[in-house]
Amino acid sequence: MTKALVVEDNLLNMELVLEILNAKGFAAEGAMNGEDAVNKAEQETYDLIITDIGLPGMNGIEVAKRIRGKPGYENTPVLALTAYATGGRAERERFRAEGFEDVVPKPLHVVDFMNQIEKYRK
Ligand SMILES: [Mg+2]
Repeated sequence: MTKALVVEDNLLNMELVLEILNAKGFAAEGAMNGEDAVNKAEQETYDLIITDIGLPGMNGIEVAKRIRGKPGYENTPVLALTAYATGGRAERERFRAEGFEDVVPKPLHVVDFMNQIEKYRK
């Protein structure tokens, strides 16, 4: 099963994202903050990371950097889950420059998100 880690400090959003991932055949787990996410990524190997950008403490950009710097995570796709997203191309490029594979705009559009994650399932 494709293991996904979702980093989100908003519990309702987290539950929605986890529910969709699990319904789509992923084994998804959540972390409420960056530190928890980094610890989890050390104990488990995830195939996909989805992180909120606005997090208490370490932000999502830092979370992505820290996880991608770990052995075995060099090529793991990391998606930026962000309310700052407009879904525009320039923005996608900006997040790509930070090492993100793609952007997931908030509020979450369920059908778009389902289609978006399809390609990451092994
Ligand atoms: Mg947040």
